[in-house]
Amino acid sequence: MSLDELYRQVILDHYRNPRRSGRLESPTAHADGTNPLCGDEISLDLVIAEGKVAEAAVTGRGCSISQASASMMADRIVGKTLAEVDELIHRVKRLLDIEEGDPGLDPERPGAALGDLESLAGVRRFPVRVKCADLPWATLQQALADGTA
Ligand code: ZN
Repeated sequence: MSLDELYRQVILDHYRNPRRSGRLESPTAHADGTNPLCGDEISLDLVIAEGKVAEAAVTGRGCSISQASASMMADRIVGKTLAEVDELIHRVKRLLDIEEGDPGLDPERPGAALGDLESLAGVRRFPVRVKCADLPWATLQQALADGTA
């Protein structure tokens, strides 16, 4: 199986079986994001407690890239400190080439692996799809700004 094919399967798996799908009863932070270029929508609920993301739930509709990226994000951020989440956001943006720099994929570095998120690297070749992959992360940044306000 080629790497491209493997990545496609990871994305399709998240798209078909989205993790942490739904709404939270008492979110402490919330944001909605849209990507008009593609028609993608993301609605994100968070519970932030003691400097950590205690819970996350996401609903949305749109293309497989945007929804898979949202699923990976929600799955990944729960249990992380806000500093770790911030670092993850920037690593994903570097992976997507939105920000300059090394996403830190060096397997020799402990904790370097982005896991499923690496499957999003393939969209770098398609600028329009980068917006799809970034939408959940931009929405997350909005929610975090909302939650600490
Ligand atoms: Zn899209």
